[in-house]
Amino acid sequence: MNFDCTDEQRMLLDNLRRMMDATATPEYIRDHDENGHYPYEVYQAWVDMGLIGLPFPERYGGFGGNVIDMALVGEELGRKAYSFLEAYGLSVFSGLSLLNNASEEQQAAWLPRLIRGEIRMSISMTEPDAGSDAGNMRTLAARDGDHWVINGQKVFSTAADAENNVITLYCKTDLQAPYQKGITAFLVPNDTPGVTIRRLRTFGARMLGLNEVFFDNVRISDSQRIGATNGGWNCMLSGLLFERIVTSAGYVGNAQTVVDEALEYARERKQFGRPIGEFQAIAHLLADMQTRVDAARMLMLRAAAKVAKGESALREVTEAKLFGSETFAEVANQGMQILGGYSYMMEYDMQRHYRDARSTTIAAGSSQMLRNLIANTMGLKVR
Ligand SMILES: Cc1cc2nc3c(=O)[nH]c(=O)nc-3n(C[C@H](O)[C@H](O)[C@H](O)COP(=O)(O)OP(=O)(O)OC[C@H]3O[C@@H](n4cnc5c(N)ncnc54)[C@H](O)[C@@H]3O)c2cc1C
Repeated sequence: MNFDCTDEQRMLLDNLRRMMDATATPEYIRDHDENGHYPYEVYQAWVDMGLIGLPFPERYGGFGGNVIDMALVGEELGRKAYSFLEAYGLSVFSGLSLLNNASEEQQAAWLPRLIRGEIRMSISMTEPDAGSDAGNMRTLAARDGDHWVINGQKVFSTAADAENNVITLYCKTDLQAPYQKGITAFLVPNDTPGVTIRRLRTFGARMLGLNEVFFDNVRISDSQRIGATNGGWNCMLSGLLFERIVTSAGYVGNAQTVVDEALEYARERKQFGRPIGEFQAIAHLLADMQTRVDAARMLMLRAAAKVAKGESALREVTEAKLFGSETFAEVANQGMQILGGYSYMMEYDMQRHYRDARSTTIAAGSSQMLRNLIANTMGLKVR
């Protein structure tokens, strides 16, 4: 496998790094994290440089980028903060699910607006009693002529309350259908009458924020249904491998920043008359951290390369997500140890990396569910 960037990819990454350095300054990130403010200015800069359009066809204003391009961009975005990858990913993954499942007419109505930055997108699947067991969701969309009426509640919906946000909402449309078969995907702008959003107080992921979303007789047109009625599970699965690769790339990017910041601190911080990085205990910790991040990057790139070639890659992608998230969480924990008491201060970014990393082994497929999946690809029947 050749992991070298093309000239075009190198140019894109250089431009992106320059843009992120100028816009997402450390002060900007600290302020937005502490105050729970969505990074609108950074998002707009992505729109301006055409980044939202990267994986979409040219006919909608996109650039036709592939999964490798997206993985490289994902790692670069994650370097500043994993939340940036998430903000980007929510819009792009939702848009790709439109591309894979919606009619031409729906694509033409929504995708150019997404790429031009007139709307952004989030995903609402999880409910209070349906987390890992998402097929158990109970939010119901009932057909009423050319419309649907939605009632129910979602929870942990990242960035659902952002301005001009359209929620990709998964609902039950047939409560009697066998498990996972009665689910349908809809597009619901977050200012639709009957939608109420309440921000949750969270340990991390504060820049985007997690929300409860309540649906009280929310009436939407059938033109907002994506894919077949009761075909929502397939709609969700259609982009899952791609999403998990780009998400894993974001973990790698943020984990690398953890190592870089811990290394810099270990070089500068002196105790007992020498930099703490000269103590073997700290040096070996850093060596192990870098090795793990490099291994996570290789797993992610291997998965991306297989998907780019159109090969089946369920196990490789799942391993990349599992190992990438656990690596991010582990190196952030070790980074806290290396920075000692200063890691605990809000002026240092390590605490934010640690808080953000902690959610990644839970969200978008927990470590336990991913291990179940990998074991299943090995021929085991894990329940
Ligand atoms: C930061 C963050 C952002 C999120 N963003 C979104 C979002 O934008 N949209 C959205 O819809 N959801 C979102 N989620 C929800 C996320 O996808 C769920 O938290 C996740 O699916 C787990 O569900 P749960 O929290 O209900 O835990 P549960 O499913 O109740 O799991 C609790 C524990 O039991 C384990 N467990 C459950 N079932 C099994 C099993 N079969 N085998 C072994 N172990 C098992 C889990 O691994 C976990 O350790 C987000 C969550 C977080 C933390």
